[in-house]
Amino acid sequence: MTKVTEDVYFIEGQDEYIPDSHVYVVGKPSSQDLSLVDVGLVGKGDYKTQSLLKMGIDLSAIKRIIMTHTHLDHIGCLAEILQQIPGAELWVHNLEAEPLERGDERTVYGMDMFRDMCQMQYGLKPGDFTFRVHRKLQGGESLSIGDMVWEVIHIPGHSTGGIALYYRPKRILIPGDVVYADYAIGRFDLYGANASELKNSLVRLAELEVDILLPGHNRIVENLPAGYIRETASQWGPYLA
Ligand SMILES: [Zn+2]
Ligand SMILES: [Zn+2]
Repeated sequence: MTKVTEDVYFIEGQDEYIPDSHVYVVGKPSSQDLSLVDVGLVGKGDYKTQSLLKMGIDLSAIKRIIMTHTHLDHIGCLAEILQQIPGAELWVHNLEAEPLERGDERTVYGMDMFRDMCQMQYGLKPGDFTFRVHRKLQGGESLSIGDMVWEVIHIPGHSTGGIALYYRPKRILIPGDVVYADYAIGRFDLYGANASELKNSLVRLAELEVDILLPGHNRIVENLPAGYIRETASQWGPYLA
């Protein structure tokens, strides 16, 4: 785990056959009001909590888990994490929160073939991804958490209820799987994905001034060139029409 800024830490995903999402820890350490953004793949709960402990973070300071979206590589180890941090709330965009509460796992697995493969590989059963969501986000909120204010932006296209978190004072963007380093974007062929919505979401993110890009996978960028997201959106535009 590494420190990105005084109030944002990064736990790198440990990819296997299936990728494991990065986890970001946000909040001023002195606040004792920390949030995890995403948790990662099935089986990675211990790795993630051990990483927190190694950084001297008290697990009881983790008050909530905010999901950028609910694909398996981001939410897979949620039950493992909640066993170790039982007091943590779960915050998810409404469009993915409602299915999650009903046990509708189509977004989690993205496609039937992948569901069958993962259920076999990890011994998962139908209904394993049913969770109570404490706060349903809509997009447009300013979250006062950990002595910081993070803006929520709804960015559908990779999944229906995908969100980005933006910290304006330090121009930090956590966009989930919508945009990565190296002009890459998230896939748009899974359940609930939509190419033209993804295009609109990229255009929306391009309006923000971003210096630090903290995506769900691959490398993070601490000196993002101006116009990077706009350039990414225009390179991909023809494929998202
Ligand atoms: Zn995803
Ligand atoms: Zn992902």
